[in-house]
Amino acid sequence: MLADLGEDARPLAGGHSLIPMMKLRLAAPADLVDLGGIGELKGIRTEGGDIVIGAMTTQHALIADATLAARLPLLGETALLIADPQVRYVGTIGGNVAQGDPGNDMPAVMLCLGASYQIAGKGGERRVAARDFYEGAYLTALAPGEMVTAIRIPVPPQGHGAAYEKLKRKIGDYATAAAAVILTQSQGRVATCSIGLTNVAETPLWAEAAAKSVIGTALDAAALKKAAALAEAIAAPASDNRGPAEYRRKMAGVMVARALMRAQSRAA
Ligand SMILES: Cc1cc2nc3c(=O)[nH]c(=O)nc-3n(C[C@H](O)[C@H](O)[C@H](O)COP(=O)(O)OP(=O)(O)OC[C@H]3O[C@@H](n4cnc5c(N)ncnc54)[C@H](O)[C@@H]3O)c2cc1C
Repeated sequence: MLADLGEDARPLAGGHSLIPMMKLRLAAPADLVDLGGIGELKGIRTEGGDIVIGAMTTQHALIADATLAARLPLLGETALLIADPQVRYVGTIGGNVAQGDPGNDMPAVMLCLGASYQIAGKGGERRVAARDFYEGAYLTALAPGEMVTAIRIPVPPQGHGAAYEKLKRKIGDYATAAAAVILTQSQGRVATCSIGLTNVAETPLWAEAAAKSVIGTALDAAALKKAAALAEAIAAPASDNRGPAEYRRKMAGVMVARALMRAQSRAA
């Protein structure tokens, strides 16, 4: 239907980003295609070495799911920092990652975890790495008529530690700056690390240099300072009602240092 209706049609998931945008006249789709009745788009399962989450799985379901709690608790932790229960009961992970809003929390987590998105359209199915998906504010690799059907996340190794640190002005707010970290340790030193940043540029950012800089360190004060500085170097936030650009850039570094410390404390 989406493909047949043309590029002015939009899928409607939880509607908690799309409807506010329509109210503000920032979006005016000619047609809405409600995904709510498609049962195959819901649910969380493991497939091979991956956790596969249907696009219409709600943020609330991520918090409540036992598989995620045991194998990938970072997702529930992040979902709990999104908005409030009312939004989380209807807002979906597919809508959150597909919208391309740099303020949404899940995209940076997906970059951090090396996730990929399953995409379906008239031409068939394809898979795009989250790290290649975001092209600009509200601009993604989705072509007209395509939709995200599922999110595929490689199961992190046993003993990993992860954390999402989000600075916000109040409950229900988008991030002033936020950072996702996953790491593993060996003999008290960081063996692998990946870092994602939320709302400090037009797209979510994968902070590759910052993550590489902590490998082989015990995450002492100097290592944390260096990682924070490397994250700040790639951040390019706008000044807005959450603060001036310089402050938000600095907070990106602070969130990275905090997330690294908390992830380390959780790693076996
Ligand atoms: C008060 C409030 C506070 C919020 N705070 C936060 C916050 O702190 N952090 C955060 O991350 N989010 C926040 N949100 C947004 C909320 O999480 C949204 O629900 C979510 O981002 C979008 O999911 P949705 O299912 O509601 O999508 P919709 O609003 O239905 O859709 C969003 C966009 O994605 C498209 N879309 C939806 N599903 C698909 C799909 N499967 N494939 C392709 N395109 C699709 C739609 O066409 C639309 O353009 C907040 C929302 C509100 C109302």
